Amino acid sequence: RAKQAGRNGVQTFDLAMGSETAAQLALERDLRAALTRGEFLLHYQPVFDVSSGLVTGFEALIRWAHPTQGLISPGTFIPVAEEAALIVPLGTWVLHEACRQATLWQVSRAVTMSVNVSALQFEQPDFVKTVREALRSTGLPPGQLILELTESAVLRDPDAAVAQLRDLRALGIRIALDDFGTGHSSLSLLRRLPIDALKIDRSFVQDAAAEVMVGVAVTLARAFSLHVVAEGIETEGQRALAQALGCDGMQGYLLARPAPADEMPPC
Ligand code: C2E
Ligand code: MG
Ligand code: MG
Ligand code: MG
Repeated sequence: RAKQAGRNGVQTFDLAMGSETAAQLALERDLRAALTRGEFLLHYQPVFDVSSGLVTGFEALIRWAHPTQGLISPGTFIPVAEEAALIVPLGTWVLHEACRQATLWQVSRAVTMSVNVSALQFEQPDFVKTVREALRSTGLPPGQLILELTESAVLRDPDAAVAQLRDLRALGIRIALDDFGTGHSSLSLLRRLPIDALKIDRSFVQDAAAEVMVGVAVTLARAFSLHVVAEGIETEGQRALAQALGCDGMQGYLLARPAPADEMPPC
């Protein structure tokens, strides 16, 4: 795929990527068709409160129900959807669908819904409007929506990101920094970001030096008054560590795997 349209609209191709281009274009075409045919669906993974052990909310995770290949995970198609800008309409669909599901679940008590947002989506000038519209049309109370952004989404233009995060939080929603620790953001940027939570990447939780890595992340979160969630809890040892180090929330296969809405535990 062309990396960028040149000055006079001519697209320049990286020759080394030539063989990838055909496959990628085919995938792009399939993704576009999948979007119009409604082949995407959301799985949900519960988020647990560390001290009470109760489910406090869910994270929406997209899947592609491919007509011949079965369920395809986001790692395969999200990068292509980003490259082709399809992530914008796709992300809007995710936002609406996740908010709609959250309103169904919040009948008995308020649960949060976490939605992953890619950098390109976040950079859309009308992104705040898109979020407001999803809340309005589904009736989800803003306090129950959490947007998960990665460091890369805020790094390209930190000043613009800070301003937009303020606008988003003014809607009453919360912001979590996802995959925390794997990106390149600095301490000074972290200090400036108007966010509510850090999600510690599972590579840290599962690291041989997890005690140090998770400990530092929790210390940072405390210093900046942020809620902190440990991702990728797969063992009792990791759960005990998250608890001992003072994580607020936790997610992982040990506790619950992502699954369709009708398989979620009652909350
Ligand atoms: P993420 O937001 O960091 O989500 C966590 C990923 O870790 C999910 O993979 C989840 O299934 C997996 N996971 C949860 N617990 C465990 C565990 O204990 N062990 C292991 N090994 N993995 C665990 P998934 O669903 O394949 O999603 C991968 C990534 O794709 C997500 O990472 C997120 O960055 C992206 N993604 C998923 N859904 C969306 C979406 O709707 N929009 C956008 N823009 N990105 C999405
Ligand atoms: Mg996430
Ligand atoms: Mg993550
Ligand atoms: Mg991730």
